[in-house]
Amino acid sequence: MDFKKMVADRHEYAREWKKRTGGKVMGYFETYFPEEVAYAAGVLPVRILAEHEPDAISAKWIYACCYPVHDITNMFLNGRYDYVDGITNTEGCQWMYNAFEVAMNNNPKLFSHYLFLPDYPDAWTSKDALRSELEVYRKRMEDWTGRTVTDADLDRAIDVYNQNRRLLRRIYELRRADRPPLLGSEAMYMMLANQVMDKAEMNVILEKYIEELENREPCRDMIRLLLIGSETFDAQLEELAEKLGANFVVDELDNGTSYCWNEVIPQKDRLMAISLRYLARPHHPLKDNNWRRRPQHIFELAEDFHVDGAVIAKQVYCHPHGTDNYAVWKILRERNIPYLYFERNMQLPEEEFTLKLESFLNMLRPGLTRLVGWHKPLEL
Ligand code: SF4
Repeated sequence: MDFKKMVADRHEYAREWKKRTGGKVMGYFETYFPEEVAYAAGVLPVRILAEHEPDAISAKWIYACCYPVHDITNMFLNGRYDYVDGITNTEGCQWMYNAFEVAMNNNPKLFSHYLFLPDYPDAWTSKDALRSELEVYRKRMEDWTGRTVTDADLDRAIDVYNQNRRLLRRIYELRRADRPPLLGSEAMYMMLANQVMDKAEMNVILEKYIEELENREPCRDMIRLLLIGSETFDAQLEELAEKLGANFVVDELDNGTSYCWNEVIPQKDRLMAISLRYLARPHHPLKDNNWRRRPQHIFELAEDFHVDGAVIAKQVYCHPHGTDNYAVWKILRERNIPYLYFERNMQLPEEEFTLKLESFLNMLRPGLTRLVGWHKPLEL
């Protein structure tokens, strides 16, 4: 399955989907966006993915944001997302809100909505606060599409999304094998493609992909890594590690595992069920305020996937991840998990990072007696 191509062709896919279904496309900026409610109204939710292009205008609109936000702003101002009929920002990173605001102010005809999602997901009032936001959003979807969103529509959307999460989890489970059948770069592109496709169509693709993986020769022995840090919009880092004999077998990224790790548990009050799911998902640093669940979750991923080390890749100017680093470093040190920390922008500084990663891997290798032939060219 060529997921990388699916990501590259995502704009054409959305345009074709609109022609084929007559539906509207909703661009969303944060993975906390409750996609089920838009999907229940017959709308296609697509994650706004950043892509770097020469940029002479974003700095006129926003100041010193992270590079993905500059790139997204640049893309909107250059009409790359001209097929999007509406945009929704779910309360999250303030940098990302800037991209939303510029897109909204420059396209007065665009449907736009700001959806509040509490920054303290564990507080006792949060589930009701989010539920009431979802009720407002359902009404806005109805007015926008001219279609009533019934409980049956919500049930259908919840089923499709839960099925999607289960299929992704099955693929992640295959990555726990000593020699997984897929590489980290393939998995990352799969996750990105998944966020821009109609989930009912993606589920069919994932079913076939699982069959393919179950019959595929596993990878050779490689150093096993965990990827932590800011969200990513490509798999350059994974590809580079693979050239050096290492495989990212799991991640703790907002648009990686955190996107699919838990399901909506159905209940009569559908909106409450959706509210509870989004509040209980693995927390983004911005939302990890009460009980500091994130460090423990990272440790559990490291343990479950038997990683040899972790790489923390932070986007330059990403304050949410910057302020959370101390807690991540602390737990990795306490549990003796070697890690490499570095900052990147949308164009991975390849030479500099190759040197850093190579040194880190050379530090890990002597202790990894299970590895044989790590220096040989990669063959699947
Ligand atoms: S979380 Fe970090 S990378 Fe993501 S939009 Fe915010 S500042 Fe940028």
